Amino acid sequence: MSEPLIIIGNGMAAARLCEELAQRALGRYAVAVVGAEPRLAYNRVLLSSVLSSDLPAADTVLKPAAWWRDRGVTLRYGAAATAIDTAARTVTVADGKTLAFAKLVLATGSRAIHLPVGGADLAGVLTFRDMADVESITRAARRGTRVVVIGGGLLGIEAASGLARTGAKVTLVHLMDRLMERQLDARAAAMLKRAVEAKGIDVVLGMETKSFVGQHRVEAVEFKDGGSLAADMVVVAVGIRPNAEIAAAAGLAVKRGIIVDDGLSTSAADVFAIGECAEHRGVCYGLVEPANEQAQVLAARLAGRDTRYCGSVNATNLKVSGIRVFSAGDFLGAPGTESIVLADPGLGTYRKLVVAGGCLVGAVLYGDTTDAAWYLELIRAGSAIEAFREELIFGRALVERRAA
Ligand SMILES: Cc1cc2nc3c(=O)[nH]c(=O)nc-3n(C[C@H](O)[C@H](O)[C@H](O)COP(=O)(O)OP(=O)(O)OC[C@H]3O[C@@H](n4cnc5c(N)ncnc54)[C@H](O)[C@@H]3O)c2cc1C
Repeated sequence: MSEPLIIIGNGMAAARLCEELAQRALGRYAVAVVGAEPRLAYNRVLLSSVLSSDLPAADTVLKPAAWWRDRGVTLRYGAAATAIDTAARTVTVADGKTLAFAKLVLATGSRAIHLPVGGADLAGVLTFRDMADVESITRAARRGTRVVVIGGGLLGIEAASGLARTGAKVTLVHLMDRLMERQLDARAAAMLKRAVEAKGIDVVLGMETKSFVGQHRVEAVEFKDGGSLAADMVVVAVGIRPNAEIAAAAGLAVKRGIIVDDGLSTSAADVFAIGECAEHRGVCYGLVEPANEQAQVLAARLAGRDTRYCGSVNATNLKVSGIRVFSAGDFLGAPGTESIVLADPGLGTYRKLVVAGGCLVGAVLYGDTTDAAWYLELIRAGSAIEAFREELIFGRALVERRAA
């Protein structure tokens, strides 16, 4: 008889886990997915394209309803799991049902952080995490709407760019002195700022938000330096926090995320966690690839194989039309590393490769990202690059031509 396996969360990690389980252990588990969002799992990465009207929302769906049905997966979406009892092995759902499990996987992702300032709950102050957020933003955005986007990371820039394309008048405000400081060095960030400004977006750096003000809905953003900006809408994109409360309430070990070991096991027997809600070796990843790698390893383990998850390389691509940016690994260059740099301000291209111990350990590409996948492959594999170090910065084509 199939063992009951419950997955809490119907996001990208859960969908990938179901796909992997269907390939490796079809029929071994009776899988039920409990999802808070009232829709089929979708590709969250594509929300930026939906916001910029480049993609209809329907095209983000990861698998049609029939796919789940054909693989025997029971979908219960539109109701959150509210409690876990690890001793009784049950999950309580907001619709009042109690489900029994033999194995439980937490794939609850993250939520957007709200700024802890006055007026944060005013109408018109929005976040950018899920399809409901995109619907709220697009409902409120019109030609000429004054929008302040707070946060100059990947999500803030993608939101600002999408909104600018709708004709809104967008100001992007960032606390730090450069955009995407977690992914880019100062030089690439300066190039990015110019490209964002060329899209008609005002960029304000080094500015800390004090409060949002307005009578019934937001009318302005006030800053700690005494300045302010009029705003009909504010999009807050200042970071994410893992959804780990349900695990903590059930007594599982939680720090920032739900603590897992190399087998993706939590501190409770037969309870696992993957994706953005999991904390592995002190790291909570905020990207799809680590979630996919974790889903692959967990599916293999649930199918009886003794594989391990040893961590992932962080790699980011900005998805803004006309701006190509890629960053991976140790892009700043820790002490003891060496940086190889190639820049052409005329062409608007910049490449920085960070080398340590004869291997590529980090990369920043701006303008031309054609070699991004190859550099990432070298970083992930820890390949020795000394044999072609001279040509490395010029990309794969030259290295392969020289080798032929
Ligand atoms: C606009 C945007 C652009 C992005 N772009 C990129 C990119 O370019 N590259 C990249 O690698 N990553 C990107 N990301 C991040 C990427 O989407 C996430 O890393 C990925 O979705 C993580 O998958 P997950 O399954 O862990 O979490 P999620 O996809 O967030 O899924 C978690 C699901 O669990 C549900 N849930 C939470 N609590 C409960 C509960 N108690 N009961 C039931 N359900 C619950 C949530 O509602 C959610 O549906 C982007 C994210 C956003 C928002």
